[in-house]
Amino acid sequence: MTIRNIIEGGRTPPVVHFTLENYRRCLCPGCMVQSGSVCVEGKRAKLPDVDEERWGVLASKPELLPVLYCSSGRTDCRDIDTLRMCRCSGCPTFVKYRLSEGRPKSYFCRDGCQVLCKD
Ligand code: SF4
Ligand code: SF4
Repeated sequence: MTIRNIIEGGRTPPVVHFTLENYRRCLCPGCMVQSGSVCVEGKRAKLPDVDEERWGVLASKPELLPVLYCSSGRTDCRDIDTLRMCRCSGCPTFVKYRLSEGRPKSYFCRDGCQVLCKD
């Protein structure tokens, strides 16, 4: 654990910002871990077309969006299948924010967003 983690109580803010750009690049929508989840499908069914105008409202309610877990943290959907393969390592956001250097390194939908911890 880093000094910063200790000072800030063990967790830091998400490394990845919850932006429309990152939303659009996220590979979670096509991930097999979420495929077949009734909970995730329910969220998708209620989701309007995501555009710049609507993003302002949606970004304040990340729990409605079954994506970008590296920013928003773990999902409240309990019927995902984490025995399947996570796609994050192939995501441009994963590369841009150097998520391979932190923890967790994948399955953010299960394990939550990343803590800046490089020990
Ligand atoms: S965080 Fe990884 S395992 Fe979870 S839905 Fe996204 S790509 Fe799949
Ligand atoms: S690293 Fe994973 S959770 Fe984050 S934007 Fe990419 S696919 Fe989505």
